[in-house]
Amino acid sequence: MVRRRVAYAVIAAAALILAAADTIPLGVDRHAGTNHVLGADQQQQVLMTPRSSSVYMHQIAKGEEVRERHVVEFAARQTLARAKAEAAAAVAGEWQPWLGGSGSGGLGGIGGLGGYALPARGAYTSGFGARWGTMHQGIDIAAPIGSPIYAAASGVVIDAGPASGFGLWVRIRHDDGTITVYGHMYDFFVSVGERVPAGMQIARVGNRGDSTGPHLHFEVIINGQHVDPARWLALHGLSLA
Ligand SMILES: [Zn+2]
Repeated sequence: MVRRRVAYAVIAAAALILAAADTIPLGVDRHAGTNHVLGADQQQQVLMTPRSSSVYMHQIAKGEEVRERHVVEFAARQTLARAKAEAAAAVAGEWQPWLGGSGSGGLGGIGGLGGYALPARGAYTSGFGARWGTMHQGIDIAAPIGSPIYAAASGVVIDAGPASGFGLWVRIRHDDGTITVYGHMYDFFVSVGERVPAGMQIARVGNRGDSTGPHLHFEVIINGQHVDPARWLALHGLSLA
């Protein structure tokens, strides 16, 4: 008998076509800054996502929502605990670090002149200004997830929670009206309405939102205008280098 060799067809696995090589460095964000909205192209991509992966992505988004809600609730509990401790300390006539008034860096922040602190320590990965055809409204400081983020100056927390493009953000209005913005954090420990001293740890570095790696996105807004945070910090004796 003639043995016949049977050739078996090899089924080639379909290769996923990955997007063209991404040149965006690690530790920066893709968004332009505050008021980020989805462009027409991005909305189109969302609509064209296949059903199976859209369900999967919805579950991820749902999980993120729950995580974010826990972060906000945890921050509220922290704030309440601090307020109680502060009240007890005031009754006892004791000075406590969260009372502030002791100058900068009282809580481990990186102090500068006259009650200002570096918001984070890390690698300065992206500056303020035009970038990738858009406007980068802040600066990026790359640091490992969990690294501390400090209030750059004393003020009142005006936002603390999820924000489009930022994942989670915190915004603080300072005594002179300047607003500082902190984005992409892993979690945070302050609530809206809480007064914070300069140098107090308000959050931890994360990689949420439009981000290519763990970093702090930091903005400074004066009279409604974004200014270069690196220059603003330098004016207050703080250098990122
Ligand atoms: Zn940024």
